[in-house]
Amino acid sequence: MEESVSIVIPVYEEEESVPHLYKSIKGVMEGLNRKYEIVFVDDGSKDKTFKLLEDIQKKDPGVVVVSFRRNFGQTAAMAAGFEYANGDIIVTMDADLQNDPNDIPKLLEKIKDCDVVSGWRKKRHDRFLSRRLPSMIANGLISKVTGVSLHDYGCTLKAYRKEVIKNVRLYGEMHRFIPAIASWVGATITEVETTHHPRKFGKSKYGISRTIRVVLDLITVKFLQSFSTRPIHAFGPGGLVLGFVGFLIALYLSFEKLVMGKDIGGRPLLFLGVLLIILGVQLVIMGLLGEMLARVYHESQGKPIYTVKRVLGR
Ligand code: UDP
Ligand code: MG
Repeated sequence: MEESVSIVIPVYEEEESVPHLYKSIKGVMEGLNRKYEIVFVDDGSKDKTFKLLEDIQKKDPGVVVVSFRRNFGQTAAMAAGFEYANGDIIVTMDADLQNDPNDIPKLLEKIKDCDVVSGWRKKRHDRFLSRRLPSMIANGLISKVTGVSLHDYGCTLKAYRKEVIKNVRLYGEMHRFIPAIASWVGATITEVETTHHPRKFGKSKYGISRTIRVVLDLITVKFLQSFSTRPIHAFGPGGLVLGFVGFLIALYLSFEKLVMGKDIGGRPLLFLGVLLIILGVQLVIMGLLGEMLARVYHESQGKPIYTVKRVLGR
């Protein structure tokens, strides 16, 4: 028996797309002859999305619907989807018909030899200036900083082995970094070209402001990767060096004052010395605070990033 598949789909106000999406996924998956389920996560939609999903779920026991109390964002929706998914392989995709379910078999084929398969929208149908250009820059930056080189971090159409995804804790706009986070813990990643369609119904939930949030999240991810276990190593060395230089300056000025009897009150060097000592002490203290936070962070379960109103089919 081949491994079972869960298709996880974050949905926010996509009432026109949902019926088409469901039908087209069904068409593809029924032809594959393997166990599968579809997990829709309704991210607090105010349109008819939930009603439509509820109707689908009533007729099809292979569908799970998780409904959020309010809009928590795509990352939270995906985290909930991972939580409720039972499959050995988890495939994520957008609900707006921009990803093509016909690519799913390709992803499932590829994941036989690796842990994560990432879609690459080579011919992407989005606006150039507001979406594709920022995305190109972001992909370059993320690849460089995380050391995991991918053309299209932003493509939701990806496949993961269950073991990889269950250990990744998501927040912020973090879902796009899953391949990088997974690779740090030893997962292997393959990229496949996928089809991308222009958005037919509804409108995109994002604008250019997302790029900025993604860059900030990238800094967090990088920091967590490098120093989350030893923050004192990030801040300590700088603090010690600056503090030591400040100490030498203070020592020299004390010598001038006490031994040579010179007036040091108006010397710029005095200010520099004081500044460096304070900075140095603060950096070391920051490192120690970081150490305490890191312990709290690693020991606590962390509060969930969403609240569920109800779950159908599980
Ligand atoms: N989405 C969501 N919660 C949100 C925003 C978006 O679940 O707060 C879903 C949305 O319904 C879609 C996917 O995330 O299925 C991607 O959103 P969108 O198509 O607007 O992004 P784009 O393709 O323009 O990057
Ligand atoms: Mg889209």
